[in-house]
Amino acid sequence: MKKIALIMVIFTLVSFSGNASSALDGMVVCVDAGHGGSDSGATGECGILEKDVNLDVALMLRDRLESEGAHVIMTRDGDYYIPLEDRCQIANDQGADIFISIHCNSYSSPDANGIETYWYTYGSSDSKALAVEIQENLVRTFDLRDRGVKQANYYVLKNTVMPAALAELMFISNPDECEMLSRADVRSYCAEALFDAVLNYAG
Ligand SMILES: [Zn+2]
Repeated sequence: MKKIALIMVIFTLVSFSGNASSALDGMVVCVDAGHGGSDSGATGECGILEKDVNLDVALMLRDRLESEGAHVIMTRDGDYYIPLEDRCQIANDQGADIFISIHCNSYSSPDANGIETYWYTYGSSDSKALAVEIQENLVRTFDLRDRGVKQANYYVLKNTVMPAALAELMFISNPDECEMLSRADVRSYCAEALFDAVLNYAG
């Protein structure tokens, strides 16, 4: 009898810790690092390239999601070019539950600043909820201007079938925000904010 009781206690502990460490168990997340390879995206005011910032944040987000049990699909996991249609096909063919595209904003005036997140009006009905979570978590993390959640018919939002959002982390064309994006700790905070957004969205 004692042995059975002990086995039951161990089983309960193991199954409990299993649940606790897999908040996103089974969720398929497609993480899309914008640009890559010959397409650098915007060149930062402080010399960094958008494609490198996007990839670094995307890889950290992947690791964080996988640590909580999510299955992560990367549209790219290195510095190479991948067409927009291929990015959508990867997410659609592999049955992603959500699609998150990571970019940095840029404008001709260095004064433009802040955080904004996009979704597509005629896409999945849950896209806006995902975009709101991303925007709120990024704004909560950084003391920067909240430019809000916006609608746009960006290719990757329009041609993916699952809830999809595109985060414009900060303005790489703004001197102060470029300086922030050049810091590894700031990029890790970006990834953590995106991770929290997925957690909240899933919950
Ligand atoms: Zn971009």
